[in-house]
Formats: sequence, C-alpha cells, structure tokens
Amino acid sequence: MKIAIPTETQHGESRVAASPDTVKAFIKKGADVAVEASAGKGASIPDEAFAAAGARIVQGGFGDADVVLTVRRPSGELLSSLKRGTLLIGGLEPYGDKAGLDAIAAAGVTAFAMELMPRITRAQSMDILSSQANLAGYKAVIDAAFHFTRAFPMMMTAAGTVPAAKVFIMGVGVAGLQAIATARRLGAIVSATDVRKATEEQVKSLGAKFVYADIADAATSGGYARELSAEDKARQAALVANHVKTQDVIITTALIPGRPAPVLITQEMVESMKPGSIIVDLAVERGGNCPLSKPDQIVEHKGVKIVGTVNLAGKLAGNAAPLFARNLANFLDLMIQKDGSLKIDDADECIRGTMIARDGALVHPMFGA
Ligand code: NAD
Repeated sequence: MKIAIPTETQHGESRVAASPDTVKAFIKKGADVAVEASAGKGASIPDEAFAAAGARIVQGGFGDADVVLTVRRPSGELLSSLKRGTLLIGGLEPYGDKAGLDAIAAAGVTAFAMELMPRITRAQSMDILSSQANLAGYKAVIDAAFHFTRAFPMMMTAAGTVPAAKVFIMGVGVAGLQAIATARRLGAIVSATDVRKATEEQVKSLGAKFVYADIADAATSGGYARELSAEDKARQAALVANHVKTQDVIITTALIPGRPAPVLITQEMVESMKPGSIIVDLAVERGGNCPLSKPDQIVEHKGVKIVGTVNLAGKLAGNAAPLFARNLANFLDLMIQKDGSLKIDDADECIRGTMIARDGALVHPMFGA
C-alpha cells in the first residue's frame, strides 16, 4: 500500500495531512509513505522529521499512490495525475461547488470528504471539523484580545480599576465552547447564545451566562442546527440587538451545514457598539455572521474592528496539522486489513457517510448521486 502526502497548494494553507506519528503508524502496518518535500514546513515539521519516521521525501509524482491524504481539495493538476481508484481522503470542501466535485469524480478517484463525517460517538476521533474548530475557537479569542485596546481581566490598581471585558460568543458548537473557556480563563465576563437549547447547560457549566430568545429548539437529529423560521429569526435578532450594545468583544461561530452562515450581527448592531469593540467572525468563509466582515481582512467600521481571518486553525498549524493527520489516520485504519491491503466496507456508516465519488461518478446523496 502506497500512501502519499502532497504539499498543500491552496493559498495560505499551512497544515499538512500527516505527522511523523501517523507516518510511523502507517509504516508499522506495512505501508510505503511518500511525503512531498517541504509539505510540513508551515506546521514546523521539517522533512527530516518525516524521514526519521520512515517516510520517503519526494518531489511530487504521486501517480502510483493507492491513498492520497490532503488537508484541502487538491489542485486539478494533482487530481489528473492520480491513477483510477486511488483513495483520496481529506477536507474536500464539498459544499457549494458542484463543478469542483464533478472534477473529483471525473478523475476516477474514490474520494472521501471528511467534513461529512457523521456525528456519532465512534466517529469523534475522525472528526476534522471538531479537531480544527476547537483550535479556531481558542485562536479567535486570542486574536480578539490582541486587537482590543483594553484588558480582559478586571485589575484593581492604585491608579484605578480596570473593568473586565464583556465577551459574547454566538454559536456554541465546538469552536464556541472553546472560545467561552478561553475568554473565561483570560478573566472576561462571558455570555453566549445558540439556537440549540441543549447548549444552555454547556454554557452554564463553563461559567458563562446563557442568552436565549423564546424560539423553537433548532437542533437536528444529526447534532447540527437548522435554519430558523422568519419569526424566530426576528425574535433572536431583537434579543441580540439589545445584548450586543453592552458587549466589548463578540466572537461569532454560527454555521448551518450546506447553507450560507446566518446573519447574526447586522450593520446597525455594529454601529450600536462602543468604539474599540472587536468582532471576530469565524463564519467569514461561509459568507459571515456579520455582513461587514471580509475574508482575511480587518474591517474598521465606526470604531469597531471586524476581524475576518480565514482558516484560523491553520494559524495554529503546529497543533492543527497533527490533530488533522490523526483524524485521517484513524479513518484510513477502517480500511486497512491485517495483511496490509485496503478494503472499502460500504456498510460502515463513517465510510458511506463521507464517500462522495467512486468509479467516475458522484455517489453521495447530498451531491447529485
Ligand atoms: P457548527 O460548526 O455546525 O455550528 C456552530 C454552532 O452554531 C452550532 O452550535 C449551531 O447550533 C450554532 N448556530 C447555528 N445557527 C445559529 C444561529 N442562528 N444563532 C446562534 N447559533 C447558531 O457546529 P459544531 O461545532 O460542528 O457542533 C454542533 C454540535 O455537534 C455540538 O453540540 C457538538 O458537541 C456536536 N458534535 C458531536 C460530535 C460527535 O458526536 N461525533 C462531533 C462533533 C460535534
């Protein structure tokens, strides 16, 4: 079994889809592992560390690979160089780009989009969204503290008292929970909101205040949120508008799978905030929770800074890459047999749930199969 780890080519991508630990584990199972030169550079993993783990360091040329592991969707050039039936496993960005998915299918690879991993207990160790969102939630708070011209904790000094910053987290999934915990550790007064009622207990257990409009619980059976009805949207907006005025920092993390991110902080709400306030919009890549946020820009609007950094987890590539790599390795383990061969078990929920293309066609019910 030949496993290949190419250098990521998408702009600004600093992560890599393997770590020395996962390389070692693959080799123990009898695999030949080829890592492209400098693939780990952005995550501070030198070629020597991959080589010491047993990988061959190569300059491209993955045409004979049985498995290709990636962080993002590979370039057309790489795709077209792969042999038919190669397993392509990674963050393949399945939403909103049918032409891109068609190109994956046309390449004849068997492709697994790890974003589609079902939210079941057994799948937790393979869940790239969780491992990366956790780091993104942490980094969002650190970035907010960096841009904020005041301190987070209350400080009593001889020259006067510094008040604690008020931080509001919108969307209490994996990223939001880590953001709450991080902001609390920094001494802020933290509040949070979500449309899934189950998050109330989680918010309170982290020592934050739960802000919840009188709306129907929007949790789906898959563990995600659904879009709110127009009436509930209006109720939530009224509550948020009132709360936002009193906040110094807002971290928005609200996402709905396969849909544009919901708008939660309108321009009017931004204008109601005090000068010097900070908004970090983690949903910026999916259209943003604030219409003023712009990908990879810091927009200043009437004294409020709106930070729209894309791929926040990638800013912590030293942690993000090994976790991502471990998620992929755990998934590939489902297909590696005792004799080192590969077998795709269609009956496995995690395999079936993530497979988007096979034998030249799209095979996932969500994407045109
Ligand atoms: P996500 O990234 O899809 O969304 C982030 C949060 O935004 C969610 O909590 C969602 O409810 C919230 N949201 C959506 N619309 C909103 C709105 N209009 N206003 C406010 N908030 C809104 O979610 P996620 O972080 O991937 O996690 C969702 C849930 O799945 C969490 O409860 C998490 O613990 C759970 N989970 C389970 C597993 C597993 O069992 N394998 C793995 C990962 C996550």
